[in-house]
Amino acid sequence: GEALAVSARVAPLGSRLVLLLVEDLTEARRIEAVRRDFVANVSHELKTPVGALSLLSEAVMDAAEDPEAVIRFAGRMQIEATRLTNLVQELIDLSRVQNDDPLEDAERVRVDELVAEAIDRCRHAASTKQITIAAGGIDGLTLWGNRGQLAAALGNLVENAVNYSPSRTRVGIAARRITAPGGDLVEIAVTDQGIGISEKDRDRVFERFYRVDPARSRATGGTGLGLAIVKHVAASHGGEVAVWSSEGQGSTFTLRLPEAATSRRDGRGRDGEV
Ligand code: ADP
Repeated sequence: GEALAVSARVAPLGSRLVLLLVEDLTEARRIEAVRRDFVANVSHELKTPVGALSLLSEAVMDAAEDPEAVIRFAGRMQIEATRLTNLVQELIDLSRVQNDDPLEDAERVRVDELVAEAIDRCRHAASTKQITIAAGGIDGLTLWGNRGQLAAALGNLVENAVNYSPSRTRVGIAARRITAPGGDLVEIAVTDQGIGISEKDRDRVFERFYRVDPARSRATGGTGLGLAIVKHVAASHGGEVAVWSSEGQGSTFTLRLPEAATSRRDGRGRDGEV
């Protein structure tokens, strides 16, 4: 239809141009479809907790004579409210990182501080499941970037490692410097002994709202946006995120980000003050 009409109009200009125009239209359509899907997904994800809250508040009213039931329903209302808060917060985080604006408030960020913050964020979930989190190689490394975004990215990876692992397993966080011609990088790897991700899902988990097992994700308060945020944070810092995984054995997510250039590092031994 439309593409054909375009090709008829510009046919005299040569087939190369026609092809480019048709490709452009296809790309524009694809972007439009992705945008529409996103809005539909957001609406659906918002409706679920709001619907549950509405039903639960009715249940509370009906149970007015039964204090124990009231407390039970109120507890479930709290869970739904938390879910809603998390979703809105992650949507805000995502909208902040997915524009292509230059990085705001970039500063020197210590890796050990980011790691401590990420572990802190999962302390409760980890201790409930008796999961030990161990970090190594993080001393003296610094990144150049937006502290809040970097904390959100690493926090999401560690949170996922805990959420998608069985009890009494181990989560490891390891950092190292990688020397590269365009400037040194810091690689932070988060390894778990969890359920793993199949090959067919491995690329898709970075898409907004993509979940391998939606029920499991929701049960742990997941929004399906975490890895999309990680991917955008990596990109906006000129870095990248990758995943290695073996189903049933575990996964490793690695973040590679530019190291903050130190004022003067004499030799490559231990770092001085950074
Ligand atoms: P969610 O909020 O659902 O955790 P994410 O974007 O963080 O959303 O992750 C997307 C999906 O990728 C998850 O629902 C889960 O299926 C899968 N996933 C993410 N991290 C891991 C992991 N460490 N081990 C196994 N599966 C994972």
